[in-house]
Amino acid sequence: MSTVKLHPTLDNGFEQGAEHFTGGTLQCLCESNKVEVKIDAQTLHNHACGCSKCWKPKGAKFAVIAVVPRDKVSVTANADKLAIVDEKAAIQRHACKDCGAHLYGRIENKDHAFYGLDFVHTELSPQKGWSAPGFAAFVSSVIETGTPPANMKAIRGQLRALNLEPYDCLSPDLMDALATQVAKLNGVTAAS
Ligand SMILES: [Zn+2]
Ligand SMILES: [Zn+2]
Repeated sequence: MSTVKLHPTLDNGFEQGAEHFTGGTLQCLCESNKVEVKIDAQTLHNHACGCSKCWKPKGAKFAVIAVVPRDKVSVTANADKLAIVDEKAAIQRHACKDCGAHLYGRIENKDHAFYGLDFVHTELSPQKGWSAPGFAAFVSSVIETGTPPANMKAIRGQLRALNLEPYDCLSPDLMDALATQVAKLNGVTAAS
């Protein structure tokens, strides 16, 4: 069986994050006048994502995306080239108008469980040491963007071989965080 191209930073395996890594820069894919974003922290919850909204490099089935506190993210060059892809989406993805790369995704709804975290693609960084992906989210969603359903077993197998447990929503930890926020907003208190 032929292997599917998941993502350039996954297909040949990947290294674990560096222990004392403290951040770096992201650059868009333009040849010149690159948009540059500075991140002053190590990323968290890095994962492969099969949803149709996350930015993927050409030919990739999955995006690779992590989060970082929004106060650690600053645009340091060519900010005028950024535009929000979809103002109505929960995550407002700030993308380069020229090359299409998403530099950061930001949640402006203060009631959202992930408010305060920006979403970033560290493959856009020249530095090494960012946190490694730990799971795969929204795996079944790759069907929505044209993957034949018959390929899904092989794709899940490839992800497992990379120690990226495939989930069809987010990982249990993150689903629990979302549900905890719903309970909080509804005034539900947990019974022990
Ligand atoms: Zn660009
Ligand atoms: Zn996604």
